Amino acid sequence: MSLTVCKFGGSSLADGNNIARVAEIVKSDPARKYVVVSAPGKRFSEDRKVTDLLYDCYKESLEKGNCSEAFSKIRKRFHSIVEELNLESFDIDAILDETEKEIETRKSIDFTASRGEYLNARVISAFMGWQFVDAKDIIFFDANGSFDEKRSYPLIFETLTKYETAIIPGFYGTDAKGEVKTFSRGGSDISGAIVARGVNAELYENWTDVSGFLACDPRIVEKPKKIENISFKELRELSYMGANVLHADSIFPVRKGDIPIKIKNTFRPQDAGTLILPSKKYKKGEGIVTGIAGKKDFTVIFLEKSMMNAEVGFARKVLSVLENKEIRFEHMPSGIDTLSLVIESHFLENGILEELLVEIKEAVHPDYIHVLENIALVATVGHGMASSVGTSARLFSALSDAGINVRMIDQGSSELNIIVGINNEDYERCIRAIYHAFFQ
Ligand code: ADP
Ligand code: ASP
Ligand code: MG
Repeated sequence: MSLTVCKFGGSSLADGNNIARVAEIVKSDPARKYVVVSAPGKRFSEDRKVTDLLYDCYKESLEKGNCSEAFSKIRKRFHSIVEELNLESFDIDAILDETEKEIETRKSIDFTASRGEYLNARVISAFMGWQFVDAKDIIFFDANGSFDEKRSYPLIFETLTKYETAIIPGFYGTDAKGEVKTFSRGGSDISGAIVARGVNAELYENWTDVSGFLACDPRIVEKPKKIENISFKELRELSYMGANVLHADSIFPVRKGDIPIKIKNTFRPQDAGTLILPSKKYKKGEGIVTGIAGKKDFTVIFLEKSMMNAEVGFARKVLSVLENKEIRFEHMPSGIDTLSLVIESHFLENGILEELLVEIKEAVHPDYIHVLENIALVATVGHGMASSVGTSARLFSALSDAGINVRMIDQGSSELNIIVGINNEDYERCIRAIYHAFFQ
């Protein structure tokens, strides 16, 4: 019998009515046995996600020793969810009281943030009459903070297959010291992928509020084309570069198990969605470009030195400076006598940039060093790009026609990807220009 693991995001579980809709979707297909859930998300655009309210609780309990003010908002959210679901017999107050106390005594940011998923999973399990399985008992991190697959997968399999059906909170697990640890934001997507791999599912369904992976962010281009099929590689490039419909790290567990992902819309379950396939099963479509994504707020450090190419160890020395300061870089495009480092700007705040420049100068004595700030990166991604003549010309003439100044170019070694660096303020226009050049 086929087995599907579903993950429902916060946008699908923001209130009781939506939770009831989700229960209906899950129960409409007997293959959907294990369901990973996020914390309640925003109900309307100015609303706040429960996870964000929990970060407020952490702050308040550090400052005041208790978090009763911030936690009252969490109480209100869960009271109305329980009311909308007519769960009169479910004692949500007992669970909320215990949670508030634990937040105050444990003083752990990860534990606090994880409670949105925990509470939502408890409510959903009560509403659906499905077993609650706590992620802390089946998902583990090693001493380096990385997901510990050797420890987790056998336990996921052993624990979940004891039950016909189960609800599992996303976003967290247990670290090597036995404390609750979260993934990065949006991490319930990773939990869903891990559970899918752990139980050897045939399909990982990721349910959200859009009808699939779109060719670009729908908040920037109105009604972008939906992507029908996409490979794991393309997905990784696009999600890493900011297409946050799916967390960029969620492909690793399913890729190893060859498990396809389907993106589906909770609010339009009849829509086909997007199928994300392992590269060997994926058949390239007609289009040259599959999708476009990007992120703002990078800093580019540009270095020039005559005969750089002949200087053995030049790049190593530069990278050692970064390593010693524990700064990671995003890209490192290079030419014969030039090398650029593209770094997320937040790593360079509070004087770190100035220190870094001094240390790089000492380490490699460049002829010229120049810094570009407020840079956005935009990636144009597609398997079709490598084999199609004139792709770059089309891309760059679209940018030039739109009057966008390209500050940096990086054609990834995967040949799947062209990344341009532009000023932050040109970001949206840049995405629109590339979209119109390839999709219209
Ligand atoms: P969830 O709460 O289900 O985890 P997210 O808010 O994390 O949902 O992700 C879904 C959102 O991602 C969409 O509502 C959309 O605004 C945004 N998004 C950004 N880029 C894309 C894209 N390329 N395709 C689809 N959605 C995108
Ligand atoms: N609730 C967490 C967040 O808001 C995790 C998730 O939704 O995937 O980041
Ligand atoms: Mg998400």
